[in-house]
Amino acid sequence: MVAVVLPTYARADLAFDRGEGAYLYSTDGRRYLDFAAGVAVNALGHCHPRLVAALTAQAGKLWHCSNLYRVPGQEQVATRLIEASFADTVFFCNSGAEAMECCIKTARRYHHVGGHPERYRIICAEGAFHGRTLATIAAGGQKKHLDGFAPIVDGFDHVPFGNLNALRAAITAETAAILVEPVLGEGGIIPAEPDYLRRLRETADEFGLLLIFDEVQTGIGRSGKLFAHEWSGITPDIMGIAKGLGGGFPVGACLVTEQAARGMTPGTHGSTFGGNPLAMSVAETVLDMVLEPGFLTEVERIAQVLRREIETVAARFPTLIEDVRGLGLMLGIKPRFPNTELIARLRDNGMLAVGAGDNVVRLVPPLIIREAEVALAADILSRTLSEVVAPS
Ligand SMILES: *Cc1c(COP(=O)(O)O)cnc(C)c1O
Repeated sequence: MVAVVLPTYARADLAFDRGEGAYLYSTDGRRYLDFAAGVAVNALGHCHPRLVAALTAQAGKLWHCSNLYRVPGQEQVATRLIEASFADTVFFCNSGAEAMECCIKTARRYHHVGGHPERYRIICAEGAFHGRTLATIAAGGQKKHLDGFAPIVDGFDHVPFGNLNALRAAITAETAAILVEPVLGEGGIIPAEPDYLRRLRETADEFGLLLIFDEVQTGIGRSGKLFAHEWSGITPDIMGIAKGLGGGFPVGACLVTEQAARGMTPGTHGSTFGGNPLAMSVAETVLDMVLEPGFLTEVERIAQVLRREIETVAARFPTLIEDVRGLGLMLGIKPRFPNTELIARLRDNGMLAVGAGDNVVRLVPPLIIREAEVALAADILSRTLSEVVAPS
């Protein structure tokens, strides 16, 4: 008999009923250091008092009223995002995949209204991840996500991540845009060279293409800057964000420059739930906190401490760990044995981490971790690795 919940996930047999800061408590009473953070979602940890207060205050006033009317919360969150970024306008949705759908549609409409409907193709990176809708699995281009879902949505070409020559060679008269993650997330925590991102900007400008960044995972402080592309000094035309934006409440957004948004007129796009007052009250509070002076400096500092500690542990187990890499609080540990085994062993020892491509174990802790959590993570990793027999 099929499970009552459609069995599309390989779930660990573990459930939680409470969270506080960087810790989760399972239904059987164990405490876990949560360096998975709901896959980079719980940016401020679990049940941050300010988020709880914002959500409960809004819950007593208004939950949902539809985008048939003005939603003041959207105007406030959009203004915060615009003031802190390259964007001039923002569309709100409920998830990362929807944010990326809006990015794709915005790029196609831009060329359509510019008199070039033939320019609809988007150049994407091999190993990318942009979500699980039909268009975003086509953009991701990964066989394991596309298998059995033919026909594949047309309009996405793939080139190796980080290879500018291959990307330039893939541009045709039908190309509309370039789409990349500044750090390949699901693909294995591979940061783009800042120079690669700068060259993408130049290339997009040279060929009249739009540059789209998927910052669904890297955005909202995870890299130590509000957006990871800030490390490169250039800006995209369109950007999708989601994960950290709601700190655990489902919300996504598509940020666009005025020029790139020229095709998105009334009736071209929409979402029933997108940007509802509950989501906006939480997102505004998340932005208030992340943009508070000193917050991102502290993320950058603690990220360096974590990186150093994890590298120190890894250096003691060279036969077990091949690589440590990442940007900010987005770390990838590449073991010389299956990442699934390391994740399961870490979990048994009280720490949660997430898998990624290229056999990587992803550490994406809440942005509010302090020295105590770093020390505990290093201790659990060290203890776990000493339990593993080196593969021969
Ligand atoms: C998680 C993720 C998505 C998809 O987000 P959903 O909310 O699961 O739809 C898209 N792009 C990137 C880079 C992601 O990490």
